[in-house]
Amino acid sequence: MNIIKHFVGGKVIDGTSRRKGQVFNPATGEQESEVILATKSDLDKTVEIAKKAFDTWSLKPALQRARIMFKFKELIEKNFDELTKLIVSEHGKVYEDAKGSLIRGLEVVEFACGIPHVLKGEFSENVGTNVDSYSMRQPLGVAAGITPFNFPAMVPMWMFPLAIACGNTFILKPSEKDPSCPMRLAELLHEAGLPAGVFNVVNGDKEVVDAILSNNDIKALSFVGSTPIAKYIYENAAKNEKRVQALGGAKNHLVVMPDCDLEGAVNGLMGAAYGSAGERCMAQSVAVAVGDIGDELVSRLVKKAEALKIGPGMDKSSEMGPLVTKQHLEKVKGYVDLGVKEGAKLALDGRDLKLQGYENGFYIGGCLFDHVTTDMRIYKEEIFGPVLSVVRVKTFEEATKMINEHEYGNGVSIYTRDGDAGRTFASKIQVGMVGINVPIPVPMAFHSFGGWKRSLFGDSGMHGMEGVKFYTKLKTITSRWPSGIRSNPEFIMPTME
Ligand code: NAD
Repeated sequence: MNIIKHFVGGKVIDGTSRRKGQVFNPATGEQESEVILATKSDLDKTVEIAKKAFDTWSLKPALQRARIMFKFKELIEKNFDELTKLIVSEHGKVYEDAKGSLIRGLEVVEFACGIPHVLKGEFSENVGTNVDSYSMRQPLGVAAGITPFNFPAMVPMWMFPLAIACGNTFILKPSEKDPSCPMRLAELLHEAGLPAGVFNVVNGDKEVVDAILSNNDIKALSFVGSTPIAKYIYENAAKNEKRVQALGGAKNHLVVMPDCDLEGAVNGLMGAAYGSAGERCMAQSVAVAVGDIGDELVSRLVKKAEALKIGPGMDKSSEMGPLVTKQHLEKVKGYVDLGVKEGAKLALDGRDLKLQGYENGFYIGGCLFDHVTTDMRIYKEEIFGPVLSVVRVKTFEEATKMINEHEYGNGVSIYTRDGDAGRTFASKIQVGMVGINVPIPVPMAFHSFGGWKRSLFGDSGMHGMEGVKFYTKLKTITSRWPSGIRSNPEFIMPTME
């Protein structure tokens, strides 16, 4: 059995724990690895190492840190295939999708290569007579990241390239369901020339998460995962005086207006609802059919969803792979059972899918509910599987009101040919990331990623300038040199003249 350990101080280490988690290949349903689940003492030792590494790393010129990022980028490109296969083998998503997610992570590394430019401060000459003022952004110290199973490379890469490039040291606690790709990224970072202790991976579960929350030497914490855990992280990290950003779950709507390019909307929905088996925080799990478009929309969706090619992620012809674990498969099937009980019309049922040769894999076929209403749990809750709900409304206003009243506000899209509707939608909708005739509006690395409402606790998103601000603190200096020093003491609030 393959044993996945920790990466600390520039090398793979065992740690002190005897507790282990199981890592499966979702395509076959077989356990392929065990991951060691760290203790509080493992985490505390890692923090000591990262703290020591910060003393020298934070003083390195930003240009030298950027050069390591350039080299890291090169190594990721060189090892694309291996990294992609690691994602497929533990997460289950199809190869090209896994590769796409890696590219989206790589884009943050590319953004981090420009760190000397983005860290430049501001300077004002003569804010008062002979007085200058300037600002700089300085790193915080040891930062940590806790990440979900659904993007084992991309989500950690929303965090650590910028944290490190800004001069912090970093401890990553990846999901215990698919930790191999982050471990390999740690090795590549060191091959790129990163000094030992600057980037560390500590594998584990709640025990190590709680150790991160209670360690006072961790100054900033980035979290991505489900909403109940995001809230727990936000409250406890803030209580322990950490800077915190905690991204949570989602229920994203795609509004289909009667005037839209319907084929474009249906294709957009297919990829956004069933891509990565619906295990994306930006998955479109609710289609909002406006006016009389519902019947035609559902009939086209059923035809396409029935034809979805489902199979192992390494099979080049697969469009959708399995779910991540057996427990998650049972949970998603349970939601489909619930939808039927709640009275929604199950237009396509994927629950009984069996794949020849992969009978033990965690597969489910695409499911489609029609006539879903806002009081149903399948509408309110995040299912995180290939289950699309169609809600029918009469007007654009009804659609926006419904979306604005939902507890989540991660992503949303509208398909329309009406510029006025598109513009009003973008302006009025209470959601952080908006697509207009774009199905999955994930911002690029040089913009920032973040939802609203219960999809993000804290006030900054990931990557882009929000990321740079999150991983640095602002210092503003006001200076006067001897020829300008006033001779008498002053007891009034200083004003600049
Ligand atoms: P999860 O909340 O179960 O786990 C996330 C992390 O928290 C993991 O590292 C896990 O080990 C840890 N964790 C789990 N239970 C914990 C507990 N009780 N105490 C402390 N730590 C705990 O999420 P998941 O199932 O891995 O990922 C799916 C979720 O992540 C979905 O809700 C999805 O929407 C969300 N997600 C959100 C975004 C976003 O940008 N908003 C992006 C990706 C995923």
